[in-house]
Amino acid sequence: MQYDHIVLGAGSAGAIVATRLSEDPQRSVLLIEAGPDYPTLEQLPDEVKHGYATATDIMVSDHNWQFVGKATDKAPEMMVPRGKVTGGSSAINGQVFLRGVPEDYDAWAAMGNDEWHFEHCFEYFRKIEADTDFGDSDFHSANGPIIVRRFQRDEWLPDQRAFYNACRAAGFPDSPDHNHPDATGIGPVPCNNPNGIRWSTARGDLSQARHR
Ligand SMILES: Cc1cc2nc3c(=O)[nH]c(=O)nc-3n(C[C@H](O)[C@H](O)[C@H](O)COP(=O)(O)OP(=O)(O)OC[C@H]3O[C@@H](n4cnc5c(N)ncnc54)[C@H](O)[C@@H]3O)c2cc1C
Repeated sequence: MQYDHIVLGAGSAGAIVATRLSEDPQRSVLLIEAGPDYPTLEQLPDEVKHGYATATDIMVSDHNWQFVGKATDKAPEMMVPRGKVTGGSSAINGQVFLRGVPEDYDAWAAMGNDEWHFEHCFEYFRKIEADTDFGDSDFHSANGPIIVRRFQRDEWLPDQRAFYNACRAAGFPDSPDHNHPDATGIGPVPCNNPNGIRWSTARGDLSQARHR
């Protein structure tokens, strides 16, 4: 069989690229992944499904390539986790869904990478998210494939509440939306894990394209 496009690796990037390419019914797309595939939520193993598993089970799991690296010849070996499963590293990661600061993107653009200025990237930041706290608004979208939420104040643990209050008392501003381009201060981190489910690109993007 011949394909118009072959995408190698169904990770964060590959799952999105294959999903987008296959939107055109004239194109045939083959997506190849080294790790296992779990097409439905019910089939997902707990360590991939539940966001809290990153720090523990996933480090020694077959869903992780378990690479080992050394920063220098003298440095001790360290684990370099990478996902080996549809969704790739987005299927084993920490689900912090945080945009970079605008100045960084603009600095890359100034160095000659002119597709990367913040306003251009911002279109895509909106396009990829369904922000359940801010919905369709100046800085967010409600319709993208990746579901994003923040822990609400009544869900914070006592030490988180104490940390927030201490920062406020020390003069740091409230920051209810760290993905606002001007955000600074203290507030909950946006996470792509609605109801504790890790919303990888395999869930958010690829699930829309499997029938194609
Ligand atoms: C433990 C952990 C925690 C992280 N936490 C966060 C976080 O909280 N927030 C955040 O923004 N980022 C986080 N990251 C980083 C983020 O997940 C990665 O930067 C991102 O997923 C990388 O995307 P990618 O498409 O480049 O690669 P990947 O998503 O890793 O995809 C590569 C894919 O290619 C496949 N592949 C490789 N070789 C082959 C082959 N020869 N044949 C077929 N398939 C192959 C792999 O199995 C994998 O599925 C974390 C990463 C890890 C590992």
